[in-house]
Formats: sequence, structure tokens, C-alpha cells
Amino acid sequence: MDKFEQLIQDVLNMSESDQKKAVESYKDSCICQTCPTYNKCASDANEKLFCVTGKNADCITELRGCECPTCPLAKSLDVGVINNTYCLSGGELEQR
Ligand code: SF4
Ligand code: SF4
Repeated sequence: MDKFEQLIQDVLNMSESDQKKAVESYKDSCICQTCPTYNKCASDANEKLFCVTGKNADCITELRGCECPTCPLAKSLDVGVINNTYCLSGGELEQR
């Protein structure tokens, strides 16, 4: 199991309320808001961390670049380079 899979497993093993807290905490580390593809619709809905949560077809429909390869959270988990554009292409596990 790699670092990303371990993180997902750890979150799944938490209680529902701790899962929500963990996701919010990881969202704070997500840098999608610096990406030209990110938009107000996604921001208003507090939608980010797409590597974990998967694509967001409601808000994001056009690729204008992707900052995932430079994301510190992604780097710490050894993801974001081979797979990225998670908001449009699906989450890390989905893309594998
Ligand atoms: S890899 Fe991309 S989607 Fe995942 S936390 Fe970083 S910027 Fe957000
Ligand atoms: S997942 Fe990648 S392409 Fe989508 S908003 Fe985040 S940084 Fe940009």
C-alpha cells in the first residue's frame, strides 16, 4: 500500500465526524484555488481536494492548467505528477 492509499485507508477507518474533520483539514492544504481551472462555482461550494473526492462536473468543465504537480500535499503523498487534473479526470485511485 503506498502513501496515498494509506491516507485513504486511515480516513475510511475514522468515525464519520472525524472523517469530515480530516477532509476539511486536507482541503486547507489543497492549492486548487491557485489554479486557472478552478472557478467561483467550486469555491462557493468549498469543493477542492479532488485527488481524494474525485471530479466535479457541476462546476469545472474546462481545463486551463493544473497545479496538482506542484501541490505540497500531493508531493508528500507521491501523487500529482503521473495523474492530475483530478477535478476533470477523476480522483487519484479512479485514474489508476
Ligand atoms: S493534488 Fe490537486 S486536488 Fe489534490 S490537494 Fe493538491 S491541488 Fe488539491
Ligand atoms: S485538480 Fe488540478 S486542474 Fe483541477 S482545479 Fe485543482 S489544480 Fe486545477
